Amino acid sequence: MKALVLEKKGVLALREIDLPSHVGPNDVKIAIHTVGVCGSDVHYYTHGAIGKFVVNAPMVLGHEAAGTVVELGSDVKNFKVGDRVCMEPGVPNMNSRATKLGIYNLDGDLTFWATPPDHGCLTPEVVHPAAFTYKLPENVSFAEGAMVEPFAVGMQAATRAHITPGDVALVTGCGPIGIMVALAALSGGCSKVLISDVSAPKLKIAAQYPGIIPVNILEQKLADAVLAATDGWGVDILFEASGSPRVYPTMFDHVRPGGTVVIVGLPVDPVDFNIPAAVVKEVRIETVFRYANVYDRAIDLIASGKVNLKPLISETFSFEDSIKAFDRAVEGRPTDVKLQIRMST
Ligand code: ZN
Repeated sequence: MKALVLEKKGVLALREIDLPSHVGPNDVKIAIHTVGVCGSDVHYYTHGAIGKFVVNAPMVLGHEAAGTVVELGSDVKNFKVGDRVCMEPGVPNMNSRATKLGIYNLDGDLTFWATPPDHGCLTPEVVHPAAFTYKLPENVSFAEGAMVEPFAVGMQAATRAHITPGDVALVTGCGPIGIMVALAALSGGCSKVLISDVSAPKLKIAAQYPGIIPVNILEQKLADAVLAATDGWGVDILFEASGSPRVYPTMFDHVRPGGTVVIVGLPVDPVDFNIPAAVVKEVRIETVFRYANVYDRAIDLIASGKVNLKPLISETFSFEDSIKAFDRAVEGRPTDVKLQIRMST
């Protein structure tokens, strides 16, 4: 089947490749409609690796997808051909201890689309377990369906934060994930969310959402903005979504006594934590690795209209132009949040 293949670092090809097509009893076959271009796909393209995951063989990219069910496994009862769906790209070992505990995102045997050695979904058809496939309500488009995956990371962060209604949050980093975290935090009950970055265009995109307050740290000290927004008290929750080690030295200064820090961004190298600063405030520290058990709630929020991800879709490319889409992502235009590839019309 034709697919967007990362041959090796820096080399993409749109070509035929052998992919599994057998539909097992608990699987569905899905005709892919829309796939989002993710920072991780782009990182594999430009660097050939993320941490311990190294591209040693050609790999199909893409993990943020929506499409239509075209074939059902013999034991699948809860879908029918023609259902519009989105898919969770990580599939755990269903018998593992982590899966049984509900923390299947932490299962050591988890396979994840477009994470070496597993192929992704930038191809016209995929076979996927029905258990990790989710129906899209009529009012949720395929484009929004393909946004559920990155939004799920925000959902996981908001869930781990244990938000109390009215909480004030700060998100450090205004990339796609930072914005997703801010939207999930607002929908989870935060009264306002400050979001900090050095990029004025990115902050402008985030600021179009009511409740999100942009802080350009080139123009304003973050500490001043936080104290002004919280009457000198500090935020209830700080979500770190930049992955930048520069956030860490002053991180706990922004949090109120008894507040929470949620680490979402994954720094490339180990970073120093100012533990004494955290201890004297009894800060609760949470971490986020992908997500588990949030897809249904993410889809419901989008369908309810409480979360509108459409303004974050910057441009849509055809499958034939998918290499162009990736080169555009590498360019890193500050006005681009999410680029998508549409497999069919
Ligand atoms: Zn992604």
